[in-house]
Amino acid sequence: MATLFISDLHLDAERPDIGAQFLAFLETDARAAEALYILGDLFESWVGDDDPNPHYAVMKTGIRALVDAGVPVFFMHGNRDFMIGQQFSAETGVQLLDDPTPLELYGERVLLSHGDALCTDDRQYQNVRQLTRDPEWQAMMRAKPLEERLAFAAQARAASQAHYASSSEDIMDVNADAVAQIFREHDMDILLHGHTHRPALHQVELPDRRVTRIVLGDWYEQGSVVAWDEQGPRLQVLPR
Ligand code: MN
Repeated sequence: MATLFISDLHLDAERPDIGAQFLAFLETDARAAEALYILGDLFESWVGDDDPNPHYAVMKTGIRALVDAGVPVFFMHGNRDFMIGQQFSAETGVQLLDDPTPLELYGERVLLSHGDALCTDDRQYQNVRQLTRDPEWQAMMRAKPLEERLAFAAQARAASQAHYASSSEDIMDVNADAVAQIFREHDMDILLHGHTHRPALHQVELPDRRVTRIVLGDWYEQGSVVAWDEQGPRLQVLPR
């Protein structure tokens, strides 16, 4: 049995093929897994657990069925769904994880992260991140009517798209110093993250050792999963 990791599905009613693949994945590969870790940006946007979005409700039911079948499911916030909270956790049975979270897996020490905090070259984004992860800001947002939050999220998405369209490719990837620093802080062998949509397995040379950085891909055209068992981690494509 393998432990499975996914991220960056960006589930949205406007992309029903991703949702269909995710639901099928929950009923097949994930059902046979030791555990499922979702490392952020499962949803394209999340304005609060009270949002009655019917597409998201179907996804929540699918996750609940997996948890009820006995597979533990863990969720870490991404930069799109950082407003997921305790109500979502209670409804789905998903356990919320901090970013980053260390994990010991088959004798290896791995650090899980969404990955956006490592993209330190994008100063403008890091400022937004700092603001939106502030508990006071989130409480202020949650107090607003649903319609207002949905309008704000649509605006934020448009601003984000404009920002990335006008930014160089480099600043949207992780910063090498930020990667080296997180390895120093956590004394891990492997870092596993998503966010950049650049699936790969990188060998990283630190001053004192060689470590591995595994990057999950997005689900826009196909699924992306890391399946980890006694043989180690494998980065796989799930054809649509
Ligand atoms: Mn992201």
